[in-house]
Amino acid sequence: MLKGIAASSGYAQAKVYRLEHPVLIIEKRDANSEEELSKFESALESTRTDIRNIQAKAANKLSEEELAIFDAHLEFTNDPGLIDQVIAMINSDSVNAEYALDFVANTFITMFEAMEDAYFKERAADIKDVTYRIKSHIMGIKLSDLPLIDEPVVIVAYDLTPSDTAQLDKEFTKGFVTEIGGRTSHSAIMARSLEIPAIVGVTGVLEALEQDQMIIMDAIEGEVITDADAETSAKYVSLAEEYEAYRESLKTLKDAESVTLDGHHVEIAGNIGNALDVDAVLENGGEGVGLYRTEFLYMESKALPTEEEQYEAYKVVLEKMEGKPVVVRTLDIGGDKELDYLPLPHEMNPFLGYRAIRLCLDRTDIFRTQLRALIRASVYGKLRIMFPMIATVQEFKDAKALYQEEYDKLVAEGVAVSNEIEVGMMMEIPAAAILSDRFAKYADFFSIGTNDLVQYSMAADRMNEKVSYLYQPLNPSLLRLIKLVIDGAHKEGKWAGMCGEMAGDPIASPILLGLGLDEFSMSATSILEARKVIRSLNFAEMQTLAEQALDCDSMPEVIALMEENLA
Ligand code: PEP
Ligand code: MG
Repeated sequence: MLKGIAASSGYAQAKVYRLEHPVLIIEKRDANSEEELSKFESALESTRTDIRNIQAKAANKLSEEELAIFDAHLEFTNDPGLIDQVIAMINSDSVNAEYALDFVANTFITMFEAMEDAYFKERAADIKDVTYRIKSHIMGIKLSDLPLIDEPVVIVAYDLTPSDTAQLDKEFTKGFVTEIGGRTSHSAIMARSLEIPAIVGVTGVLEALEQDQMIIMDAIEGEVITDADAETSAKYVSLAEEYEAYRESLKTLKDAESVTLDGHHVEIAGNIGNALDVDAVLENGGEGVGLYRTEFLYMESKALPTEEEQYEAYKVVLEKMEGKPVVVRTLDIGGDKELDYLPLPHEMNPFLGYRAIRLCLDRTDIFRTQLRALIRASVYGKLRIMFPMIATVQEFKDAKALYQEEYDKLVAEGVAVSNEIEVGMMMEIPAAAILSDRFAKYADFFSIGTNDLVQYSMAADRMNEKVSYLYQPLNPSLLRLIKLVIDGAHKEGKWAGMCGEMAGDPIASPILLGLGLDEFSMSATSILEARKVIRSLNFAEMQTLAEQALDCDSMPEVIALMEENLA
């Protein structure tokens, strides 16, 4: 049995599918030109076959526009500009095919990347994609192709990138297990929104598991069971059935109010990464979107999304929510989220570095485009905008000023905009939380990002499973910070929500309720259970319990206190 962190609940039994993105080490060698030419030719042919297969598989899942990318890739394998140069180099320099291809492709990539036009930047990404595949064929290294999976599997990987997760087919992907990561790493968050069981931070999993080996995932306990006998396997089948029945029973609460026994109302909302996730929020009875992580829009594109593309995306989300509030967070890139087409300098501590609002206040061109798209979309629903990673009051003021400039420009241009947009901020840096009463004079609302607030308070990287024991949202120090934020907001008549993973943790909700949290935003799949918990509690009692929790020494003490009082 292998142990990890249960990141998205559920059970699964299926064959292992190892997902690997091998790094190709290209060395220059003297070689026989004829042999290398024939390797190159057959690698081109295999690449064309791969692309056609992936395209056929993806045919009913992707838009016309997305499918056209594969045509561009196919064309590229026939592009004389590239092919002829590679052939010439193999002939004249007698070098190995992968080296010649790498050399020639890099000259194109460098040239396209240097161009301002988004179209050419996308071509650079295409060339990288296709040549990676051709080189792997030349070198005889097998690539994993998620879209080609056509039987039930559990994906086993070092980590999953957002583009990997975007390609997962729910029909065949029964779960995933990764070597690194914690409950709040982004692959875990994506798994919850896809409702796929996931276990992360399983040290040694890639070494322990072989391709096609049958495994059982217990993503409640965070266990991967190998070599199960018939009895164990049957036990997990029935556990899975019970779990499904419990999930089903929660559905009766879909349209129920989120209100305590003594009549205190809160709002329970959902976190989304794209417009498709809105469906799950609505199906689970979400009263709004409390966090739209717009960086996924950027990560799923091959170049910076244009104002028009963003406007369309935000409009769809606002329309689907039909007047329910939608909190859209401006670009939060950096940390564990990267953009291929926007290379960031390598940093010693990316989570402490050039990230989120820091980047946006520097690259105001990127920021202004997003703000304009948002403001234009505001007429389609109830928009709330928030800035991530605010550390100082000045940063908030600067971001708000840019927002106001774009707002005024649009009004002057005669564009229809809403006059009820709220502009708030994430509370995820301790310095800001401590000063929340000052921030509350300028921001319309706060949303507490405990994933980051915990990592910064505890000085424990959220991606590092070795220090994941320090992910202690119920530590009294965190509870005191959360209280500061809520009280700071209320003092100025503002509201405070939470969109970090803690908000959806049924163990934490009684205390958060008692501390006065107004809005709880979580993975769609956690909404109904959260509502069930809120409806079973008495607000006045939870206020007393929260006070007591603030006076504990440790997280275990807080948990013991709750167990005593909530039995
Ligand atoms: C958080 O930090 O709690 C948060 C919600 O933002 P993200 O997980 O995207 O950093
Ligand atoms: Mg964050």
